[in-house]
Amino acid sequence: MTIELQAKFQTEQEQHIRGQPPLALSLVVPVYNEAETVGIFIEQVEGIFNNPDEVVVEYIFINDGSTDNTLELLLLLQRRLPHIKVIDLSRNFGKEAALSAGLRCATGQVVVPIDVDLQDPPELILQMIVKWQEGYEVVLGRRIDRTSDSWAKRASANWFYRIHNKIADPIIPENVGDFRLMDRQVVDALNELPESRRFMKGLFAWVGFRTACIDYSRAERVAGTSKFNGWRLWNFALEGITSFSTDPLKIWTYVGVAVSLVSFLFAAVIVLKVLFTGIDVPGYASLMVMVSFLGGLQLIGIGVLGEYLGRTYLESKRRPIYLVRRIYENKG
Ligand code: UDP
Ligand code: MG
Repeated sequence: MTIELQAKFQTEQEQHIRGQPPLALSLVVPVYNEAETVGIFIEQVEGIFNNPDEVVVEYIFINDGSTDNTLELLLLLQRRLPHIKVIDLSRNFGKEAALSAGLRCATGQVVVPIDVDLQDPPELILQMIVKWQEGYEVVLGRRIDRTSDSWAKRASANWFYRIHNKIADPIIPENVGDFRLMDRQVVDALNELPESRRFMKGLFAWVGFRTACIDYSRAERVAGTSKFNGWRLWNFALEGITSFSTDPLKIWTYVGVAVSLVSFLFAAVIVLKVLFTGIDVPGYASLMVMVSFLGGLQLIGIGVLGEYLGRTYLESKRRPIYLVRRIYENKG
């Protein structure tokens, strides 16, 4: 498959780019405790883009506060491959911030954020480039087979997309992660966005541009372990929804109106009952149910307000998205 693709790509390249300078491709790779995977990743990518007359690869590794020897390893690899850039962040800022840092630094004509664990197959980039040459500014990698992810992860992702796309604007394409090819123009647009809390999937969708999709089946992680557990994913989903929709805030007006109407009806029923059947013994059980129901409802409403207020608060501080300790690059 890979060899066939490479052959196809090479003929396309010959048709399109003969006599033109090679395509500058930036790979933006956030890494957090990935000492086991970076070597395998680079070896694989180097094997695919082995003709510098056609594609020149620039690696941008963002060391997201790794506590293992990922950084040392990257610097060692950099000695052999001078087109590696390493942005060393001052601590773990999370994948979204790391991606933002990498996109700022990428200089390529086309830019591809990609996971280092080879769950996003680098050979797909060849197909993406062909699409880009057809005039698409964004080429998404869509996972058609996610059996490598756990059942719980797939189910929760499904629910997330369903809810998010019902209430938020713009729609996030389902089963699409950060793995995509973007034209320079798209990356410039992303770098212009001022918010400091960055849900990249949403921001990617927000900027728009002419978009194509390529399907692939998601492989198992080649080594190491996933950095996203259930709680982190839940917070990630909350971030996504609250970043791009205010519906959860507005819905409380309608819930409030509905509950008031029901209690008004309930009051009317009680009055009529007393009028027609005489004095009734006040119901302790129904009273408790109503009180606790309304109490719960109010707490949920306050909780939702809190989610937004907290985010507005953090955003209003205008803190930078990440802090760089040092950038390691070979000049010239
Ligand atoms: N990652 C990161 N910072 C974090 C967590 C993850 O830079 O705080 C990187 C990680 O090194 C990998 C990518 O994000 O390159 C995807 O992470 P992972 O494979 O753990 O996520 P999953 O594929 O399980 O969703
Ligand atoms: Mg992974």
